[in-house]
Amino acid sequence: MLDGEIIYLKGVGPQKADVLAKEYDIHTYGDLLEYFPFRMVDRSHISTLDSFNADEPYIVFKGRISELHIVGTGRTTRLEATFTDGTGVMQLVWFQGLKWVKELLQKSQIFIVAGKPSMYGYSLQLVHPDIEIATNDEGTGTHPLMPVYHTTEKSKSKGITSKTFARLTDTLLKQLPAYLPETLPTGTVAKFHLMSRNHALRNMHYPASMEVWQQALFREKFEELFFHQLDYQYSRVSRQHHSVGRVFSVVGEHFNDFYHQHLPFPLTNAQKRVVKEIRHDMKTGRQMNRLLQGDVGSGKTLVALLTILIALDNGCQACLMAPTEILASQHYASFQKMLDGMDIRTELLTGSLKASQKKKIKQRLAEGEIDILIGTHALIEKDVRFKQLGYVVIDEQHRFGVEQRSKLWSKSDIAPHVLVMTATPIPRTLAMTLYADLDCSIIDELPPGRQPIRTTHGTDAQRALLFNFMKQEIAKGRQIYVVYPLINESESLDLKDLMDGYESISRSFPMPQYQLSIVHGQMPAEAKAYEMERFKKGETNIMVSTTVIEVGVDVPNATVMVIENAERFGLSQLHQLRGRVGRGGGQSYCILMTKDDLGTTSRQRIETMCNTTDGFAIAEADLRLRGPGDLQGLQQSGMLELKLADIVDDEPLVRATRDEVRSILESDPDLLQPGNEPLRSYINQSKNATRWDKIS
Ligand code: ADP
Ligand code: MG
Repeated sequence: MLDGEIIYLKGVGPQKADVLAKEYDIHTYGDLLEYFPFRMVDRSHISTLDSFNADEPYIVFKGRISELHIVGTGRTTRLEATFTDGTGVMQLVWFQGLKWVKELLQKSQIFIVAGKPSMYGYSLQLVHPDIEIATNDEGTGTHPLMPVYHTTEKSKSKGITSKTFARLTDTLLKQLPAYLPETLPTGTVAKFHLMSRNHALRNMHYPASMEVWQQALFREKFEELFFHQLDYQYSRVSRQHHSVGRVFSVVGEHFNDFYHQHLPFPLTNAQKRVVKEIRHDMKTGRQMNRLLQGDVGSGKTLVALLTILIALDNGCQACLMAPTEILASQHYASFQKMLDGMDIRTELLTGSLKASQKKKIKQRLAEGEIDILIGTHALIEKDVRFKQLGYVVIDEQHRFGVEQRSKLWSKSDIAPHVLVMTATPIPRTLAMTLYADLDCSIIDELPPGRQPIRTTHGTDAQRALLFNFMKQEIAKGRQIYVVYPLINESESLDLKDLMDGYESISRSFPMPQYQLSIVHGQMPAEAKAYEMERFKKGETNIMVSTTVIEVGVDVPNATVMVIENAERFGLSQLHQLRGRVGRGGGQSYCILMTKDDLGTTSRQRIETMCNTTDGFAIAEADLRLRGPGDLQGLQQSGMLELKLADIVDDEPLVRATRDEVRSILESDPDLLQPGNEPLRSYINQSKNATRWDKIS
């Protein structure tokens, strides 16, 4: 019944069916049933214009239109209507959809209007109110609560309004079978006192009371989050139960030799714990997919190296992928330094090598003459073949597309173990949902002796002060980063900002007393590497750059990070940048330069940065201030597709569904028990093509 085509529903001709499909992705009866209203208007609580409570967020009136004008021209064109209920008057205003609203209003009948009250001068007005002709027919009039559906301008202009949805769902509900089957396990429904699906779907549209609607809404949100969790967790569990991984049974010579003879400093407790977790995964015979989260500077590289040594001890090769050439070379250099005196063959493969060099590396790799290969995405080109690839470490995951990672899969007959390292802390709620399919390790401790970075906010007016401060730090032998946003590498405007800034700095910091470096995306790779190298060696005092240095660069002597146009960066990005300093022993500083007049959100973000250095707290704030859509790397996640639930507001529900799914899968990993039938059939039908188990 529910998969019947919508065109066969009474009241939907071909034209309406077309709009429903194009504007709302509604093709079947089921789709319509699950197109839920976002609000209920309580028609039994009608206010009057002589006595209403202006503080209420949403008020309902009943009356008629006395005047109707189109006012203004161009972009400011609006429709103004004077509304009266006999006790007073108010203005209704529309800026969009003027044509259909006007047609509706001209019908000169009694209307129910509802919306958020606002004052315009001394008179009350409702902007873009919900409006319906007050009727008692068509079924909907008999319900005390009127559902309000989101509608698009295009749809309204073609005659499909919120009211149309109300009427269509009413028709649909009347012909539904008496019982709609349950989709959640009976145990779960009972445990959380959920309304049955049969009741919930009906009460989402026509509830008997607000309370009943809330219960239905709760059930539907629960269901949405539950199945999201099931998608991700099921793939993880089935991978754990069924996938074959290499067994790294020994910790051998390489690891032990390094650990006892070459370790540059004692591991932090967090590093020790995480190495153990990875080590454990590698023994199980299942393929590891682990996410390693650790704030900038928490020492993830060392964890990568130690676990790579375990792979080598078990006769495998390993590779380490970084998002940029600079980072790859830096990893290569630090690996070489740490592995000095050990018999381990490490190579660097990047796009800028000469063809002949590349060829040689590839040959040696295929013959098993290279143990550790470090590089950028050049590593995943088709013609890169390993003899025995057992372990892949991916640094700074958000820069790596899902597609790129999937290519790794074909590099080995048995899937290699995968460790994805990220310094972008992921808020707890998101981690619970997004990475429900990855096992997660967290380094929540910085190496000893780090002083918290001092962060301040400055504006152009304080530039002279800033330059003075920079000079003082340089006089102490410190180095400084000055970073400009470059949102789009090809944006010439952004580049101009950088160049102007560079010039002004050159004027205040003249040669030969001061030496400057500059790095930006449009420079050739060698030139970038050369400048980075000079800065790293301490030959230059100031590094002026775009965000190419954003991830991973390690220059312990740099203690000042100046971020220009800081309001243009996201919080997580600012946090990443700030993490470039504070790596040596000395007191470090981060100065956020912005224009004078900041909007509220920008101001809040800058304040957050000044007040905390905790990456997780910052990630949470970012999520709250900007919503999940703006967080890095989330575009490819299903979290943006949630229709009802909100991962910030519904955090307790996210938690509850995660735990419930987890406990179901723990006792019944293949979902074969009788109570779990609906879940089994959901999995069997699941059309979800981009499963993470097929990706990494
Ligand atoms: P990230 O997690 O940001 O990749 P890195 O691995 O680059 O951090 O480490 C940051 C700095 O901390 C490096 O200079 C590294 O040598 C140093 N470091 C790492 N582990 C320790 C430790 N256990 N004790 C002291 N310093 C450490
Ligand atoms: Mg790093």
